[in-house]
Amino acid sequence: MASYDDNNIFAKILRGEIPCNKCDEDDLTLSFYDIAPQAPVHVLVIPKGRYVDYANFVAHASVEEIAGFSAAIHRVAEKTGISETGYRIISNIGNDGHQDVPHLHMHVLGGGAMGPMLAKRP
Ligand code: 5GP
Repeated sequence: MASYDDNNIFAKILRGEIPCNKCDEDDLTLSFYDIAPQAPVHVLVIPKGRYVDYANFVAHASVEEIAGFSAAIHRVAEKTGISETGYRIISNIGNDGHQDVPHLHMHVLGGGAMGPMLAKRP
């Protein structure tokens, strides 16, 4: 697995070098609306710590950080109203997971029927 790149776009958002449309924040997490939404509600939840992906996070984060990340996802679903109707959470990891930004993020998607989980394979 690659080491953490401090120049990734979410690291820049965390440092305030690039703006974001914030949904939620606490000491351990930041949540903001995706710049290219794939659903009526599409929020990215990220830890403030330097973690490349979910596997790296679970292996190295503190119990407090892991619990705080889960709580932030739940809070975003409540704040955006999608907890009423249902939603989907996705975290892409690595090449096969098609992860573009190498800072852990959970996609929180909702606001309409999400359809099948994956495109059908040929
Ligand atoms: P990934 O493919 O890594 O799972 O998802 C990266 C997500 O980050 C994409 O959904 C993409 O639209 C979003 N994204 C990329 N750059 C920015 C940005 O500068 N601001 C925001 N808010 N979202 C971004």
